[in-house]
Amino acid sequence: MPWVNEEMCVGCGVCVDECPVGAISMPDETAIIDDHTCIRCGRCHDVCPEDAVRHDGEKAPQEIEANLQWTRDLLKHYETHEEKQALIERMKRYFAKDRKVAEQSIERLDSLEQEL
Ligand code: SF4
Ligand code: SF4
Repeated sequence: MPWVNEEMCVGCGVCVDECPVGAISMPDETAIIDDHTCIRCGRCHDVCPEDAVRHDGEKAPQEIEANLQWTRDLLKHYETHEEKQALIERMKRYFAKDRKVAEQSIERLDSLEQEL
């Protein structure tokens, strides 16, 4: 899923004109991509003169940090060491489920690719 690095976007509007499904808007001076409308064609990435449209993988460190911060915030609701430990275990199971879903989705996509 492409995303716009706000610090790099100069608001030129080139990507807005190029998007085939109108998924990019510019409420202020920065482009925003609507995840639900985007069909992942990659055109915005190719045409951006500032290289401000970035790939998914580059967001991984931010997403990992957000997950850790989420867990730290949840921990504030628990008092004892045991309760906190139990929460961390639940969060690990939650993310393990995401990993399983991602791995099996990739496997299924491999099969889908064979059918093309
Ligand atoms: S083309 Fe790049 S710099 Fe121009 S509005 Fe889109 S993301 Fe911003
Ligand atoms: S990837 Fe394609 S559909 Fe998605 S925002 Fe960019 S130009 Fe639009």
